[in-house]
Amino acid sequence: MRDTMARTSLPLLSARPEADPETAQISPDWVRISLASAYALRFQSGRFTRDFDFGGINLLLSYDNGCLSDCGYCGLARTRPGEYADKSFIRVDWPLVRTDDLVERMAKYESKLTRLCISMVTHGHAYADTCDITARIAARVRTPLSILVAPPTLNRERLETFRKLGVDMIGIGLDAVTEDLFRAIRTDVPAGGLSWEKYWEVVDDARDIFGPWKVNCHTLVGLGERDTDMIDIFVRLRDREIFSYLFCFNPEPDSRMADHEKSTVQRWRRIQLARHLVETEGYGPHDFSFDEDGMLLDVHGEAPQIDAAVESGIPFLTNGCPGENGEPGCTRPYGSYRPSEGFRDYPFPPNAADLVEIRDQLALPRLSTGR
Ligand code: SF4
Repeated sequence: MRDTMARTSLPLLSARPEADPETAQISPDWVRISLASAYALRFQSGRFTRDFDFGGINLLLSYDNGCLSDCGYCGLARTRPGEYADKSFIRVDWPLVRTDDLVERMAKYESKLTRLCISMVTHGHAYADTCDITARIAARVRTPLSILVAPPTLNRERLETFRKLGVDMIGIGLDAVTEDLFRAIRTDVPAGGLSWEKYWEVVDDARDIFGPWKVNCHTLVGLGERDTDMIDIFVRLRDREIFSYLFCFNPEPDSRMADHEKSTVQRWRRIQLARHLVETEGYGPHDFSFDEDGMLLDVHGEAPQIDAAVESGIPFLTNGCPGENGEPGCTRPYGSYRPSEGFRDYPFPPNAADLVEIRDQLALPRLSTGR
């Protein structure tokens, strides 16, 4: 199912020289997969720092001339030094595999898989190639499939096509949670289209087409926003029945923000808890207190309720599209931290020792220490 614009670009995208499609290892016949996905599908052997089941498979379109966007924090950014094939994304390597081999492995290990996701990049062929890869997957595998979209390449008709092809959830990498930050950090693609307005247009269209709680926005903590900004966006999305999924800014070497500090663990934990309380308990800005810089100081509300939320461990799990029955689906180990660091988000339920540590890290006045 390809729309009439399938192999062409939207007018707002300029074409860049591309390698010979007959010989180049590029999408749609080749894709990159996260290292964790390569482990899960036995393309590579390796272990996580703790044993846990892992079934979220993330793949990424791959082109010799890369992504046309140039976001200051991203490992794939157009102006980040180095060949595209050698660039990391969210600080981990993404091995290149043949798409048909990947689909074969997905079919083989289907019973262990929880969620599949194609990450687009901003490129003139991204839409057509995403349709092609989606169709190949949908023909062989029943695991729910998301697309993390590149809004500059899309319009409403194209989102409708994704749905018809079998995609059930759409993610939008908003990342920067205020318009000012978005404009300052996410410099535009060469011929336009990477704009705050365009991103929200795609959020709105996706919400209309895919329905409640079938769309999510990725939000990044640590780009320079205040905690009040984060909570405002959580409320705005919750009110539209759109998930907000949290990522922690993790500086990529040689990116424009390589020297920018990541958020403290205390700030990160507090935002994780706030996001959970907004999304699942109906909290709003007035349920939190902030300092004069807009940073979270305390959570109001019933202490036992907050305590129970912390004790459940759920606020600190990796946010991601769910599996078929609502279980954690996309758990992206090491998406927000290095393997050598403590878990910023947990791809499995935190254990009792983790929860004690989390309480210490939160350091909230109204919370018991759990010791
Ligand atoms: S949470 Fe995971 S599966 Fe969902 S859109 Fe984001 S990367 Fe894809």
